Amino acid sequence: MHYYRSTTKALKAWGCIIISTVLAINCLLFFILTVKSIVSYVPPYVVTEAKVKEIYEKLWKASGEDEALKLPISVIDEDVVNAYAYAGGMVVFTGMAQVIHNDDELALVIGHELAHITLSHVYGVEGTAEDVIRHHEGLADKLGSWYTMKAGYDVCKGREFFKTLQTLGTPDGGSHPKHLWRHAQLDLSCS
Ligand SMILES: [Zn+2]
Repeated sequence: MHYYRSTTKALKAWGCIIISTVLAINCLLFFILTVKSIVSYVPPYVVTEAKVKEIYEKLWKASGEDEALKLPISVIDEDVVNAYAYAGGMVVFTGMAQVIHNDDELALVIGHELAHITLSHVYGVEGTAEDVIRHHEGLADKLGSWYTMKAGYDVCKGREFFKTLQTLGTPDGGSHPKHLWRHAQLDLSCS
């Protein structure tokens, strides 16, 4: 009987030790995962008017174009994924934040639109045939990336924007070169 009681006690004691250990490990894992998620949390990128204008100023300066000829830029606070250049300037929608993660990507987008202005594409002097437009898009990517780099932004990070478009299934082809082709064209010794 005595032997039976001590065995039961010992089993209970071991049971408590095992349960306590499992709980302690669970708590530790929970703590590690919580800290990890806090440390790796990246707040969503916000496209503000001030940010767009700051980047545009830097890119214009980097382009070497006459400051006196600088076209105005408008930032429209609408949930629209779009930015475009026209003969009167440039328009950027704050909804671009849906596909942009950092200043480098935003700079590449604005640089592309700025290149359409400096290359006079916005004046439609070379026609609007689809193959001509696609050619213009390729040129704007290259010159825009040059402005982006010259203004101090990272084109290797910026070009990831095209991967996001690809991942989200944004239609490509047509008037624009394909997303991954555009990404590959901007391979400036990116690792
Ligand atoms: Zn374009």
